[in-house]
Amino acid sequence: MALRQIVTVPHPVLRRRAIEVTDFGPELQKLIDDMIDTMRDAPGVGLAAPQVNVAQRVIVVEYGDEEAGIPHQLYAVVNPRIVRFSKETEIGTEGCLSVPNVIGEVERAFSIELRGFDRHGKPLHLKPEGWLARIFQHEIDHLNGVLFTDRAVRLQRVSPEMAAAMDRV
Ligand SMILES: [Zn+2]
Repeated sequence: MALRQIVTVPHPVLRRRAIEVTDFGPELQKLIDDMIDTMRDAPGVGLAAPQVNVAQRVIVVEYGDEEAGIPHQLYAVVNPRIVRFSKETEIGTEGCLSVPNVIGEVERAFSIELRGFDRHGKPLHLKPEGWLARIFQHEIDHLNGVLFTDRAVRLQRVSPEMAAAMDRV
């Protein structure tokens, strides 16, 4: 396992549509292991492959909130797609490891239904809610070349210390 460099705006890979994964071999396994290490080192609660300069449809998420009843869990999802967005939305403050020292308010679906594959190619079906659903929506946006700054209102610059105190994705 190894750390990879997180690319930041205006790197063009962040604006590309990432391609579907078709090979679940050793290269994908190494990519996912490296993404988990890189996310934890940042630290962050989510990371999409384009953020480490790999234009493939792979995301990792690690999050939990015992108070909200969300168990701490690590997810690696290949070729994720959102098949349902709740009508109910929620506004939350987001930051991004690829957009340093900027935060903004983003309206997102409160819950989603997500399909994709695990790292070995087994189908996955997830129904995250709340902050976990927000993280997945943010990461899947990365696979489509969309940044939270495209969706946010009240963007503001913050100090590196304040940015580091957020759950960045
Ligand atoms: Zn991000």
